[in-house]
Amino acid sequence: MKIEFRKISGIATPFEIKNDLLFCQGTFKKLSHRLVDIDFTLRADVTLTCDRCGESFIDKVDEKMHLQVSDGDYEGDDLDIIECYDHFVDFDAIVSGEIEAIKSDYHYCNNCKETQGE
Ligand SMILES: [Zn+2]
Repeated sequence: MKIEFRKISGIATPFEIKNDLLFCQGTFKKLSHRLVDIDFTLRADVTLTCDRCGESFIDKVDEKMHLQVSDGDYEGDDLDIIECYDHFVDFDAIVSGEIEAIKSDYHYCNNCKETQGE
């Protein structure tokens, strides 16, 4: 799902993204003519790799996310802003980016969680 910046209003608009891998539900609204605010809950089954033993395992993600998207370069101090360069907010790309960010964190499989601290 892609929405053009100039078509986004200042009133929170609901959206939903659903596919085999994830379910995403929330709202988006315009904060200024170049900044859009997105608030959503992300539910997904994410395949993670244990940082201790290297095993892959599936984890259920259920997280509230809040982020902002800038139309072009963002010149403020906030580092959590996603910059878009084609005047569209690409919700699918944003959501998969968030999942990639979750994957790149440290994770331990259940086995290693149990033996942690030994
Ligand atoms: Zn492990």
